[in-house]
Amino acid sequence: MLAVLSGCAGGAGRELELEERWRPLRSVVEVSDLQARHRYTTIGEHVYVRSLRDFDAHLPPGSVERDALLLHEQVHAKRQLAQGLPEWLSRYATDPAFAWREERLGWEAELRHLRAHGRKVALEAVVQALLRYRTVVTRLPLADETEIRTWAAVVLR
Ligand SMILES: [Zn+2]
Repeated sequence: MLAVLSGCAGGAGRELELEERWRPLRSVVEVSDLQARHRYTTIGEHVYVRSLRDFDAHLPPGSVERDALLLHEQVHAKRQLAQGLPEWLSRYATDPAFAWREERLGWEAELRHLRAHGRKVALEAVVQALLRYRTVVTRLPLADETEIRTWAAVVLR
């Protein structure tokens, strides 16, 4: 958490307001010097990205892909605010089992939305993406490959 927050201190810039349906999320904020371990970092009511231009290019407004990503981040935002932001962030940053559970919930919302709208999602891409995750402070993988693969196969079945 500290690494993420200190990364935000310098360069908070442009901001994209989100529609009501994304509450409690309120905006996507560009933070140019964000140490983006993950491309999207949600803290409370805001999703932080390194470049809003890239965000718009990769996830065009109104696209299934943008909605899927925002559903994922909305899961994080709701659970952060329900549990208490400092508590959630500190556990997420240090406890791989906690971070893995939270990511499963986010990814499940994202993947189900993509599949419900006819998008083909490659199991291997999901596995490889999740294998790259590390807890922010303790730098631990969230789960081993077998566990990630088994979970992803069930969601994508
Ligand atoms: Zn996530």
